[in-house]
Amino acid sequence: MEQKKCKNKKCQRLLPDGYKHKYCENCRNEQAKHLKDACKGALGVAVMIGGTAITIATKGKIKPTKK
Ligand SMILES: [Zn+2]
Repeated sequence: MEQKKCKNKKCQRLLPDGYKHKYCENCRNEQAKHLKDACKGALGVAVMIGGTAITIATKGKIKPTKK
């Protein structure tokens, strides 16, 4: 029976029998962490861009409509 290995070339850990994933637990945790960080980063950037855009918009010609 062929022993499965983690798909991460830097890792190559042997995966346990019947393991459903291509990456070992360790790599999956790492990926999850990176994914979370990426999400946070993207969200942060989006908020920053959104905030900047709003700041620019309010400093520009666009003003809240008051009568
Ligand atoms: Zn791995």
